[in-house]
Amino acid sequence: MSYRIDAPASALQETPTTLRAQSSRTARSTSEYRALDAAHHIHPFSDMGSLNKTGSRVIVKAKGVYLWDSEGNQIIDGMAGLWCVNVGYGRKELADAAYEQMLELPFYNTFFKTTHPPVIELSALLAQLSPEPFNHFFYCNSGSEGNDTVLRIVHQYWLTQGKPSKKVVISRRNAYHGSTIAGGTLGGMGYMHEQMPSKVENIVHIDQPYFYGEAQGNMTPEEFGLARAQQLEAKILEVGAENVAAFIGEPFQGAGGVIFPPSTYWPEIQRICRKYDILLCADEVIGGFGRTGEWFAHQHFGFEPDLITMAKGLTSGYVPMGAVGIHDRVAKALIENGEFNHGLTYSGHPVAAAVAVANLKLLRDEGIVTRVKNDTGPYFQQRLRETFASHPIIGEISGAGLVAGLQLAEDPQARKRFANGGDVGTLCRDFCFNGNLIMRATGDRMLLSPPLVVTRGEIDEIVSKAKKAIDATAQQLGLS
Ligand SMILES: *Cc1c(COP(=O)(O)O)cnc(C)c1O
Repeated sequence: MSYRIDAPASALQETPTTLRAQSSRTARSTSEYRALDAAHHIHPFSDMGSLNKTGSRVIVKAKGVYLWDSEGNQIIDGMAGLWCVNVGYGRKELADAAYEQMLELPFYNTFFKTTHPPVIELSALLAQLSPEPFNHFFYCNSGSEGNDTVLRIVHQYWLTQGKPSKKVVISRRNAYHGSTIAGGTLGGMGYMHEQMPSKVENIVHIDQPYFYGEAQGNMTPEEFGLARAQQLEAKILEVGAENVAAFIGEPFQGAGGVIFPPSTYWPEIQRICRKYDILLCADEVIGGFGRTGEWFAHQHFGFEPDLITMAKGLTSGYVPMGAVGIHDRVAKALIENGEFNHGLTYSGHPVAAAVAVANLKLLRDEGIVTRVKNDTGPYFQQRLRETFASHPIIGEISGAGLVAGLQLAEDPQARKRFANGGDVGTLCRDFCFNGNLIMRATGDRMLLSPPLVVTRGEIDEIVSKAKKAIDATAQQLGLS
């Protein structure tokens, strides 16, 4: 089931010559890598004790939608790294942009009345690519910092409006907004809250719009979407509208399981935010930059946020960068009211900005986003639906464009989930791993989010490998 832990020293000799040539600079045997990794590296979101017993998979190279590990296995990446490598791996344009920028101006800050060409170009380009009312951008290094920045902007905004009592931010359970203290507090992942005794104040949560998992009785998805949105209104009334600053949500939940809300959800959320004068913040860290076939996922769902958190696809993950897109009405308040006391050493880092510009130009000029909307996105969704619509352990297929969630279920028709759903998801993910497909599991949902350059042929490969893994899971459970 698992790949070899103690690879023979000969393993690297079996790898393709191209791979060997590329990685010879640092090549060690897999077992050496694993021993050093176990000795010195603490991984994010990992149980190091058990990981160190089996050892990590060592990824040494990537091209297009494929990864290679230190054993020479070629793996198709159904997750675009961590939802971020939108233009695919190995694009020389991005490497050149970084290289040239490092020689020209590797760093300068944007604090003290200074700026530089890459951050100017990026801001102007983002203004072109974003929906019309978004013309201002603030930079940071990650999605988590983006959401910290959103909080800072929200509070500054209400101060400038003479409404300092508007402090409470409403978020959702099973949301993911990053792992800084503020990001983790905004997020609704129980296990992160448990581990974090000190939280950011004035953040409260409502329930998520997860129809398959949480709808009771005979409710239709549309009724359920409305009911979950109306929890926002109830919470605002409970807290007092004069005390509520903002609502934040991912247009579709990513890490929470690629949960697509019913069509009634976002229009109702928007109506409620406008009615009570609450800022609407869209965390587009996954949804942004083409994932659904639109530049931003809120365009797919048809609502208009006040603030947009961006990261991941902004640079296709080649270098770290995050940003917040600011609606004109909020930007105006920030600009006209004195100092905004927030910044990071690397806000608008020139190398990251240069890479972002090169990345966005590829997404636009190669028609990558358009292709997701008109060709590969619909094809991916159709292939998943025809393959899994009546599968014995698949209860729901959610998604649009090149992102999808497959709900594992014990009795799909009855919407009956597995009692040990997390274990079933892990089992399925291990089958994927062994079949050289990266497909992630969140509890009992299997997630796909391939690079946006994936071809129809590669989509066929992902879907057929996913089917093999899910078939094997069903068989192991005696449900095939
Ligand atoms: C990944 C993610 C974040 C956090 O971004 P980091 O760069 O890991 O800090 C925030 N929000 C969403 C929706 C994400 O998917």
